Amino acid sequence: MCQATRDILWEQAKNWIREQNQCAGLVLRVGSGQATYHRYDPTRKQHLINYGARMIAAKHQPETAQGWLSTREIRSRGYFGGEVSVLNLLAHTCCHEFAHLLQHSAGQRHYGSVHNRHFYEALDELHTSGAAHATRQHLSEQAAVAGIELPGSAFELPNPVQARQQWQVGDAVRFGDGRSKKKGEVIRVNRKTCTVLVNHQSRLLRYRVPLQLLSPAT
Ligand SMILES: [Zn+2]
Repeated sequence: MCQATRDILWEQAKNWIREQNQCAGLVLRVGSGQATYHRYDPTRKQHLINYGARMIAAKHQPETAQGWLSTREIRSRGYFGGEVSVLNLLAHTCCHEFAHLLQHSAGQRHYGSVHNRHFYEALDELHTSGAAHATRQHLSEQAAVAGIELPGSAFELPNPVQARQQWQVGDAVRFGDGRSKKKGEVIRVNRKTCTVLVNHQSRLLRYRVPLQLLSPAT
């Protein structure tokens, strides 16, 4: 991802960036946590983009990829045809962070409104100009050379509205695995969870269970 960001995105934009800020440099690195961000160091005149290793891991599974802004952006803005896959997510993440760099260079990053109109103009432009596609291509090729599997097949993301409509108050449900397997009754349907009442050794316990972990009790 670091290489794709430098070879494709930075390479295409660096002349424009240096018109705004003559000696601007770029440092790319991988952090060990989830944190993924762009930051600018004014004393060194250096842009820094950090990709979190755990973010990359999270974007490999539909369940953990769901909560990320990049998943929502691909779907709601129709980037890469609205298709969420590991490859598209990682390519889009490069573009997302690079759009922050462009936004910053244009002087449009403001405290409290980071994902503003200017940010999305820059991000849209990366997608319509073909830069995002080239980034995706580069990632895919480099991964193949390195023997890393980056699936390009679309995730089946559970539709939250559909998942919610599946349950009603009074439904008998089960959740959990093995020894922690539980059976109970839905007493409330929330946005992303159901509140389930479980009778455990004649004590009534309430659990908030994520929709995707519930199944009907028969
Ligand atoms: Zn952002």
